Amino acid sequence: MSAPTPPVPAEAPGAAAPSDPVEAPDPAAPSDPAEAPGASVAAASGERAAGPPARSRGVIALVPEACTSCMLCARECPDWCIHIEAHQVTLPPDETHRRPRTENVLDRFAIDFSLCLYCGICIEVCPFDALHWAPAYDYPAAALTDLTHATDRLATWSRDHR
Ligand code: SF4
Ligand code: SF4
Repeated sequence: MSAPTPPVPAEAPGAAAPSDPVEAPDPAAPSDPAEAPGASVAAASGERAAGPPARSRGVIALVPEACTSCMLCARECPDWCIHIEAHQVTLPPDETHRRPRTENVLDRFAIDFSLCLYCGICIEVCPFDALHWAPAYDYPAAALTDLTHATDRLATWSRDHR
């Protein structure tokens, strides 16, 4: 008496193949409809409308009045993408200062976002809380050089999101 023949697995050689190759499933086709061609464009436009995701870092904003031009952020930036221009003024004695003193006046604060790593070190090291994250993300530019944003733009991001 012979043993019963085991069933042939579908993947085994000799298993029935679809008669029409057009009907055969494409092994490269995404199983998730969201990955289908065109879905990424639709998803991207939806994300644009919805704004950045929660916990997104956004962009670096500046409070110019709080900045003392101490240069700490520029020195600590690992990418050297912070540019600060300032000048000094001498202030006369007043009720709280008995002697003349010098103060830095900020002329220009700029960040080259084509180089920025968004690491947040500049924000961490600022002793005067003059830098903070703002949830702006839509600031494209046609050229890398146009990705340098200076005092006015950084201050606008701060005013809009502080
Ligand atoms: S986030 Fe990092 S790389 Fe960008 S400006 Fe600040 S310190 Fe520099
Ligand atoms: S942003 Fe902060 S760390 Fe940078 S120069 Fe101004 S005060 Fe100094």
